[in-house]
Amino acid sequence: MSLKQRDIQKNEIKVEKSKVSLICQFSFELIRIPVRGEFCQHKQCFSLNSYLELMFAMEHKKWVCPICKKVCFNFIIDKYQQWILDRVRQLEINVESVTLNQDGRVDKEDPLCQIISEGKIRDYNDVIKWGFTQFQRKSREIDEDDNGSSIVLGRNEGQTIIIE
Ligand SMILES: [Zn+2]
Repeated sequence: MSLKQRDIQKNEIKVEKSKVSLICQFSFELIRIPVRGEFCQHKQCFSLNSYLELMFAMEHKKWVCPICKKVCFNFIIDKYQQWILDRVRQLEINVESVTLNQDGRVDKEDPLCQIISEGKIRDYNDVIKWGFTQFQRKSREIDEDDNGSSIVLGRNEGQTIIIE
């Protein structure tokens, strides 16, 4: 393979984008703590809280990633997706997914990129003021226990959580 060909391939890989859901597949609400298993290769996260709740309720636990089914004993929190989720929650916008570029960052063509990156946008009124009228306001979640509800980790299972 010539150098030029390799470069072209590199460029092609660079523009590869992926859509990632911000909604928990178990609770159908915004993911609270976005994690992947240590062996996962995908960008999509799942919600640690919901996953653990599900696991504790299961008699015959199978510690596998709900997305790729790889063994999943250690969880890696995606701090970047956590930040996206925090901003979406703060701005009260109704967003279910986000487009990420190859580096895992919000794609610049995704209108979400601009509003979450702009620190001056602090609430939904600001979103509208800045002209992002395509975003609808999210109706409030009914059970909002945002008192930093603690997560009880499987004491007998030996899980660890790695924060990237
Ligand atoms: Zn996985």
